[in-house]
Amino acid sequence: MTACTTQVVIIGAGIQGSAAARELAARGVDTIVLEADYAGRHASGVNAGGVRTLNRHVAELPLALASKKLWQRISEMVDDDCGYRQTGQLQIAIDEESFERFRIRNGEIARAGLPHMERLLTPSAVRELVPDFVGPLAGGAYVGDDGYALPFHTTQAFRRKAQALGARFIEGATVNAAMNGGSEWCLSTKEGHEVRAKQVLNCAGAWATEVGKLFGDDLRIKPNGSMQIVTSRLPRFLSPVVGITGQSIAAKQFENGTVVIGGGRRSPVDIDIRRAELTLPGLVLAARQAAKFFPLLNEAIVVRCWSGIEGFTPDGLPLIGFGNAPNVVHAAGFSAHGFQLGPAVGMVLADLITVGRSSISLDPFALDRFQET
Ligand SMILES: Cc1cc2nc3c(=O)[nH]c(=O)nc-3n(C[C@H](O)[C@H](O)[C@H](O)COP(=O)(O)OP(=O)(O)OC[C@H]3O[C@@H](n4cnc5c(N)ncnc54)[C@H](O)[C@@H]3O)c2cc1C
Repeated sequence: MTACTTQVVIIGAGIQGSAAARELAARGVDTIVLEADYAGRHASGVNAGGVRTLNRHVAELPLALASKKLWQRISEMVDDDCGYRQTGQLQIAIDEESFERFRIRNGEIARAGLPHMERLLTPSAVRELVPDFVGPLAGGAYVGDDGYALPFHTTQAFRRKAQALGARFIEGATVNAAMNGGSEWCLSTKEGHEVRAKQVLNCAGAWATEVGKLFGDDLRIKPNGSMQIVTSRLPRFLSPVVGITGQSIAAKQFENGTVVIGGGRRSPVDIDIRRAELTLPGLVLAARQAAKFFPLLNEAIVVRCWSGIEGFTPDGLPLIGFGNAPNVVHAAGFSAHGFQLGPAVGMVLADLITVGRSSISLDPFALDRFQET
């Protein structure tokens, strides 16, 4: 049982909560993070590690581009390189229609005036990048300075740096009640902790809707499982991270030769017991599809697979902003692409807490966009 007082309490020590804690602590703000399990236990620690601006929703690109700049100085931010590698990310179009969508998208990016370019590649340029690809090929879209990082390692690095700067983390602390006492909030946990704070950040990932209700907000984030496969080591054949349009397949090969296959195969979750299930048919399909495009994978064995719990919004964009109750900020619903955004989300949340606004527009992430009028 712990009772303490702080300026800011953060609920959830995933990448968003830990990055916000690091930034708040760096700005001298007294911060406590309450985490139901342990830092990085859920989506932030078990994701595919893709650090990708390629093919992101145009409305999300300003935040993703700000994050890319932070990733490029990640060692300086958290005293750890987080396994960050700018290997490039490639999206392959296997038919003309998909390739045409890349062209349209580049037009949208240009019209939005964003300093971002997704290089369109001819089939032969794609083959040069991924000589082992087999299958129909209309072209590709490529961002050379995208890449990947190690997710659990990264989340822990943010947490360690936040702690070094003075933030306190309490693990095994599941927030289940919140009372507004006028000038401060009093949060209680299932395990018996009590924390009083002037400001609250809800970074509870797939549980953010339940946490939001404690503050009277209806966030409409739905939990879902997302599955991954890791293979045995293979000779080097994949340099960029590769996605294949319309196939729910993404693959990356780490420096040790193992290949992570993901790309959005969903599975059921039980958020009460905090577990995601693996569904064999989905895994088999993902493995078969990946091996169809990269036959070398037929020589690998599956050494590990898992499913991580993620919170999804109806439009796939996160919810970031102030709730209805005073001094409460929500940041959740990252819909399977929030790892890359983490460093910038940490900055944005610290801005909301310390100055009440963000220099990056949060309009696309408005909390009330799903409310019926
Ligand atoms: C399999 C998989 C692959 C993915 N691949 C990628 C990728 O390649 N690139 C990318 O950018 N993104 C990817 N994502 C998405 C990314 O992992 C998430 O968007 C991101 O990690 C969300 O971070 P978070 O901090 O909001 O949530 P989480 O990491 O889920 O953290 C939320 C934390 O809140 C805690 N919590 C919940 N309720 C409470 C409570 N009541 N009290 C206290 N603590 C609580 C939880 O225990 C949890 O630790 C993937 C996700 C999955 C599942």
